[in-house]
Amino acid sequence: MDSELTIIGAGPVGSLAAYSAASNGSDVTVLDQRKRIGHPDHCAGLISKSGLALLGLNDLPKKVIQNNDIQGARFFSPSGKSFVVKRKSAQAIVVNRELFDQFLVERSEKIGVNYLKGRKVSNISFDKKRKHVNINYFEVQKKNKKEIKTHSSFVSIIANGARSSLVEKTNCKAVPQTRYLSGYQLLVENVSDLNVNFVELFTSNKFAPGFFAWVIPINETTAKVGLVSSKKLSVEKLSYFMNKYPPVKDRFTKSTPLEKYGGKVIIRGLLKKTSTDGLLITGDAAGQTKDTTGGGVITGGLAAIIAGQVAAEAIKESKNNKQFMKTYDKQWKKALLKQFRTMAVFRWLVNRLTDKALEKAFETVITNDLDQLINQKGDIDSQAEILLALLKHPEVFKLIFRVLPNLQF
Ligand SMILES: Cc1cc2nc3c(=O)[nH]c(=O)nc-3n(C[C@H](O)[C@H](O)[C@H](O)COP(=O)(O)OP(=O)(O)OC[C@H]3O[C@@H](n4cnc5c(N)ncnc54)[C@H](O)[C@@H]3O)c2cc1C
Repeated sequence: MDSELTIIGAGPVGSLAAYSAASNGSDVTVLDQRKRIGHPDHCAGLISKSGLALLGLNDLPKKVIQNNDIQGARFFSPSGKSFVVKRKSAQAIVVNRELFDQFLVERSEKIGVNYLKGRKVSNISFDKKRKHVNINYFEVQKKNKKEIKTHSSFVSIIANGARSSLVEKTNCKAVPQTRYLSGYQLLVENVSDLNVNFVELFTSNKFAPGFFAWVIPINETTAKVGLVSSKKLSVEKLSYFMNKYPPVKDRFTKSTPLEKYGGKVIIRGLLKKTSTDGLLITGDAAGQTKDTTGGGVITGGLAAIIAGQVAAEAIKESKNNKQFMKTYDKQWKKALLKQFRTMAVFRWLVNRLTDKALEKAFETVITNDLDQLINQKGDIDSQAEILLALLKHPEVFKLIFRVLPNLQF
């Protein structure tokens, strides 16, 4: 065998799984198709401080952090009405995702993880006779010369992100295509009226059906401005948002885009089965993202740490049959399923609100001071508590009945 554990994908999830397994004594190799890890970037990089602490990442190097002091968020209705959710201290940070991913690679390399970059995995299978996993890959730089090589290991973890074609090669179901939304983001300078301590989130079916647009400040004049939309054309929709949408258009008249990023966000795509003989699936490949925000670094990272522990245990016990590997499914579900389910219900409901109904929802929050309730109970990652508290609130209950005629099915 070439290694005890092989991980496919050196995104944050793959590297967190690698670190977790290597810390538990496993010999780990990570294969990634990219030669420059984390590039091109496809993420806004907004990550909660509490989530980072759970991942054991309290001390990120300065160069990774673009904004260390996000204290809250301002939410906007389609017509521009808004409320603020805030704390006195910083709740989240903004990271440069390329440097974040590279830092996680270096951290794992320091404890002995072996990274093979520029290797694209094309197939994965379990050899029942030899009881090990065979991974077929080719070196990306060798154009027109796809010499397929095989890497074998006792256990493998699929962590190759959204639109994983590798999950389809296993007997687990992949995230359906219908669960992907398209995201587009610009890094923009010379934006006016930025508050460096607050992210801004904008709702409207005109430019972000099924999701929202965001302005995430990096400093007083530079921000990541993007949106995710259930319909295609996110590039055109972002152009409408920045140039024509009345509540913000004047803030971008002098702005210049520096970089652009695109990518897929998974909503309500959580896989039920994430293990089989010799194999575990984690992160975006398993749909382990927050349905409220599409964020997957913390939730995927938490599942990845469990995957690394279970893989190390399987290696120690010499057990890689599907019954043993199922320990992973049980453990991540115990830790995260309630959160995922509550967020999925919330997203399902919000996605059925017309702009008129969204306005009513904002009015309810503003006139009943529900932002105070969110301030007290809200947590960027563990959202089940606040979402359940909101759904039980009498005014929200009344609102749901009032907006029922405006729901779109
Ligand atoms: C526009 C946008 C904004 C976002 N903003 C946020 C945010 O602010 N906060 C947040 O938490 N999340 C955010 N997300 C989601 C976040 O980017 C993902 O949840 C996160 O990157 C998932 O990590 P991962 O390691 O599972 O996958 P990835 O980060 O996608 O990493 C997968 C890795 O696998 C490699 N790979 C893929 N296929 C193969 C193959 N066949 N062989 C070898 N290697 C392969 C890739 O090169 C890559 O390095 C955003 C997503 C988008 C699209």
